[in-house]
Amino acid sequence: MIQRKIILALGSNLGDRLNHLNVAVNLLNDMIDDIRCSSVYETAPWGYEAQPYFLNMVLSGSYRGSAISLLRFCQTTERIIGRTPSFIYGPREIDIDILVYGNNVIDKDGLTIPHPKMSTRAFVLIPLAEIHPELMIPGINITVEELVERIESTTDVVKWGSLDGVS
Ligand code: AMP
Repeated sequence: MIQRKIILALGSNLGDRLNHLNVAVNLLNDMIDDIRCSSVYETAPWGYEAQPYFLNMVLSGSYRGSAISLLRFCQTTERIIGRTPSFIYGPREIDIDILVYGNNVIDKDGLTIPHPKMSTRAFVLIPLAEIHPELMIPGINITVEELVERIESTTDVVKWGSLDGVS
């Protein structure tokens, strides 16, 4: 299978948030080559406000398997970290979403890529613009940089530090 460029979004707002991101990146590194990480951002919860702030980041890399195998791998990683059941937009130890899988546009088997939230959510676009501003989102055909310019408010997304800690 050919190697595809993939981009994942990671978030945590329960427990040791930074440790959860670090463990996730270390586990993902077993199957994803050439991982490149954004900074870590602290972001206000979206959709359901009565919960702790998130740490969010994105990473890109190269992956050889199918999109569904990447989803299973992300879900296994979430389980290893100890994600407990929550509700939509609810708090979570770790959330790993597939933003981009090569140039593919996918909507089957419960998997939608590019991720439907990615074109409007500041907590995804701002970290993504840090590492891939010129990326053209497949199916939308707008660059990340242009999507960031369309965001109404960016005040809820603040650079916090890196995987090494707060800066
Ligand atoms: P979440 O609560 O964000 O972890 O959502 C998990 C559900 O979203 C799973 O059942 C996935 O099948 C589904 N899903 C659909 N598209 C994606 C995607 N691009 N990345 C991750 N999960 C996805």
